[in-house]
Amino acid sequence: MQTEYILKVKPKYEKSYKSGFPLISKETIQNIQEGTKEGTIFQLVDKKGQFIGKGYYGKQNKGYGWILTQNVNEKIDQSFFERKIQTALDKRKGFFNSKETNTFRVFNAEGDGIGGLTIDYFNGYFLINWYSEGIFTFKDYVMDSLRHLVEYEGIYEKKRFDVGGKYIEEDGFVEGTRGTFPIIVKENGVNIAVYLNEGAMVGVFLDQRDVRKTIHDQYAKGKTVLNTFSYTGVFSVFASLGGASKTTSVDLANRSLSKTMEQFSVNGIDYEAHDIIVEDVFQYFKYAVKKKKTFDLVILDPPSFARSKKSTFSAAKDYKNLLKEAIQVTEKDGVIVASTNSAAFNMKKFRMFIDQAFKESNVTYSIRDEFSLPSDFRTSKQYKEGNYLKVVFIQKHYD
Ligand code: SAH
Repeated sequence: MQTEYILKVKPKYEKSYKSGFPLISKETIQNIQEGTKEGTIFQLVDKKGQFIGKGYYGKQNKGYGWILTQNVNEKIDQSFFERKIQTALDKRKGFFNSKETNTFRVFNAEGDGIGGLTIDYFNGYFLINWYSEGIFTFKDYVMDSLRHLVEYEGIYEKKRFDVGGKYIEEDGFVEGTRGTFPIIVKENGVNIAVYLNEGAMVGVFLDQRDVRKTIHDQYAKGKTVLNTFSYTGVFSVFASLGGASKTTSVDLANRSLSKTMEQFSVNGIDYEAHDIIVEDVFQYFKYAVKKKKTFDLVILDPPSFARSKKSTFSAAKDYKNLLKEAIQVTEKDGVIVASTNSAAFNMKKFRMFIDQAFKESNVTYSIRDEFSLPSDFRTSKQYKEGNYLKVVFIQKHYD
């Protein structure tokens, strides 16, 4: 018998849980108890004590756990995990068969039925992300499922929860054969160097695949490109291969210089023909405006929150101002690719920031393309916040 404890939903939220809302939070539940044992299975009930759903307790930044099933008879066991992972794998058949792409998301948390768990594929290697200690208690189920269902070179994991200092970050290797990093994966025919054995970030954000392809296929040819918050420079690589006349990558992390050189090199591009600048983006904008430097294509992909020595940035508060800076260094008829992964606001609000930024700059614009998460990043209809990615291609007209 699994120990099950009872969570009572606040009446106001009954309807939404009954229609499949998956996240457990303090606001929606009457009796969340801080410090409940991670991984405890609970039953969610309405005010009459009637069953609504079953899930696990796992504290993470988003809440206190996830509902896993609305079927009172369904057990949360090995077979449950295996069914969910099998269904997810089936939905990625097209990706597994692709000749051009061998890196993608295999399992996307609540979008595939298990909040707090993601699994990514990197050309023979699987990477599991555990977003709470609670979900980590089901590790054996997930590992057994993978052993039964897929072939792999190796499996790596990342614990994305506070391990309380007692845990020394290892390379995350779980089983199979250790990779020789970087491993080179392919996305739409482009090489990407990936490190599964470093911190939380492996060198590429898989959710931008369609955006990279669009830049490569439709926006880069003959253009000068400014890639801000460039990280390892993968947008710059796609732009360059798409025929950009030159790219400029700006990121304040020291590591971004060597990582960006590497991404160019693994694609046979001479990185010396490109600018890779280690600097605060906001400083760089000041410099570019002073020097009257402009670009045909400006990519903005900041983190939701960032603190540097010189500035703090919060997408929800500061995106409009970031756009105003970008507008100043964008050529007439040039394009700004405005991206955010902030779950704090939706596309409607993001378009409002864009509109305000252009109005306050006295510049007209038109929206050329819009993206949210790609198809492998499946989302739950009942949990819209899970579709966090918003990317808008904006053409600047005149000022
Ligand atoms: N656009 C990248 C991902 C960006 S991740 C891609 O698609 O691969 C966010 C990056 O922003 C990190 O590399 C971080 O170092 C950088 N960053 C955060 N604040 C910054 C600032 N003020 N100026 C420049 N870079 C910054």
